[in-house]
Amino acid sequence: MENQKFDVIIVGAGPAGSLAARKTAEKGLNVLLVEDHKEIGRPVHCSGWINGCPYTEKLIEEFGREEIITPVDRWRVWTPSGEFAYEFKFNGGYFVDRVRLDQFLAIKAIQAGANLSIRTKVLDLIKEDEKILGVIIQRKGKTEKIFSDILIGCDGAGSIPAGIAKKSGILQFDKKKGRKYFPGIQIEFLNIKDMDPGVIEIFFGAIFDKNLGSAFVSPLKEGQGLVGFGTFKDYLNVKQKHPVFKQRLKNAQVFSVRGGLYAALIGEALRTGTMSGLMLCGDAVGYHGIIHAAISGHMAADVAVDAINDLDFSKEKLQAYDRTRRRHPITRTKLGISFQNLNEENLNSFLKEQGEIINKDIFKGLGTFDYQSK
Ligand SMILES: Cc1cc2nc3c(=O)[nH]c(=O)nc-3n(C[C@H](O)[C@H](O)[C@H](O)COP(=O)(O)OP(=O)(O)OC[C@H]3O[C@@H](n4cnc5c(N)ncnc54)[C@H](O)[C@@H]3O)c2cc1C
Repeated sequence: MENQKFDVIIVGAGPAGSLAARKTAEKGLNVLLVEDHKEIGRPVHCSGWINGCPYTEKLIEEFGREEIITPVDRWRVWTPSGEFAYEFKFNGGYFVDRVRLDQFLAIKAIQAGANLSIRTKVLDLIKEDEKILGVIIQRKGKTEKIFSDILIGCDGAGSIPAGIAKKSGILQFDKKKGRKYFPGIQIEFLNIKDMDPGVIEIFFGAIFDKNLGSAFVSPLKEGQGLVGFGTFKDYLNVKQKHPVFKQRLKNAQVFSVRGGLYAALIGEALRTGTMSGLMLCGDAVGYHGIIHAAISGHMAADVAVDAINDLDFSKEKLQAYDRTRRRHPITRTKLGISFQNLNEENLNSFLKEQGEIINKDIFKGLGTFDYQSK
C-alpha cells in the first residue's frame, strides 16, 4: 500500500467511519477505510442505545427489526436519596448489539466498494503547510505512507485529546474552554431486580460523581441490563451504599464490562471540524452518540463527493460540512449533562426543573434526527 493514493481515506470503522465510507464508495470514489483493531466493533465500549428518530427508523429497517434487543419508550428518574421522582414517555428508540451494528455498517461500506484495512493504525498525518495530504500508518509491523485527496477522521473520542483532531492542528480554531473527557464503564448484569424492559432509569447523587453525578440503568432482556459507572470501584461502592442499588444488585451477576472514553460531553462539538484535505466526524468532532456519529459521517461523505467532483479540497470547499452539521439538531442536542456540581440538598427541586429540560431539549431534539443525502 506504500505511497498509494485514494480519493478518500477514512480513519476508524465506527458508525461515523463506516457511514462515510459507504456513502463515498456508493458514489464511485476510491475509498480506503482503516481500522486499528483486528475486528470491527470490538472491544465494545457502548450500551448500544440508538435514539428514536426518523434516521434510526431507516437504519433499523435495513439492519433488521429482529436485531432489536428491546425498544424503550420511558425515562424514569430517581432522587439522590433513592426515591422515585418521576417518569415520562419519550421517543426512546432501541437497544441493539453494538458489535453487530458496527459490523453491519462496515459490511455495507465494503459492499458499496470501499476497501477495508483492519489492524492498521494511523500514527501521524502527512501535512504540508495547512493541508492534509495523507496518513502514516502502521500495518503488519511496517510503517507506510498513504495519500488521499480527502481524509475523514472518524477515530473516536481519543481524537481530540491525542488523535487526528489534535495532530492536524484543527484545535487551534477551538475557542471553547473546559472540554472534558472522562472514562466510563458499562457493566452488564444478569438478575437485576425490578428491571423494566421499556425504561431507561437515571439515578443522581454524589455517589456517582465519577460518572458526572449520574448513573443510567439500561434494559436489555428480562433481568438483564447495563449500568454505567465511572470505574469498577465505584460500582462496588454503590452496590454497598446506595439504597436502591443495594437491593436491586444484591443477587445480580456481572456478565460483562465495557469501557471507553466519553467525548466532549461538556465541551460540545467543535465549531470548526475542517481544514484543507480533512473533515472530522463523530466523537472526533465532539459528538456523543451513535446516531450523531452516523449522520455526521453521512454529511461529510456528501461534501467529499462534491469536492472530488470539483477537484477542490480546500478548507473553504470542505467548510460546507461544518455549515450543514451546525444547522442540524445533532449539534444542538447533547446526550450527556453534568450533574457533578449540584448540591445534593437542592437536587430534588432541580430534578423537577431539569426533568423538563431533559424532556423538552434533549429527548425531543434527539427524536427529530434525520438526514437525506443529495
Ligand atoms: C461507556 C460508553 C457507553 C456509551 N453508550 C452509548 C449508547 O448507549 N448510545 C449512544 O448513542 N452512544 C453511546 N456512547 C457513545 C458512542 O459509543 C460514541 O459516540 C460513538 O461510538 C461514536 O462513533 P464514532 O464512529 O465517532 O467513533 P467510534 O465508534 O469510537 O469509532 C472509532 C474507531 O476508530 C478507530 N481508531 C481510533 N484511533 C485509530 C487510529 N489511530 N488508527 C486507526 N483506527 C483508529 C477505533 O478503533 C474505533 O473503531 C457510549 C460511549 C461510552 C464510552
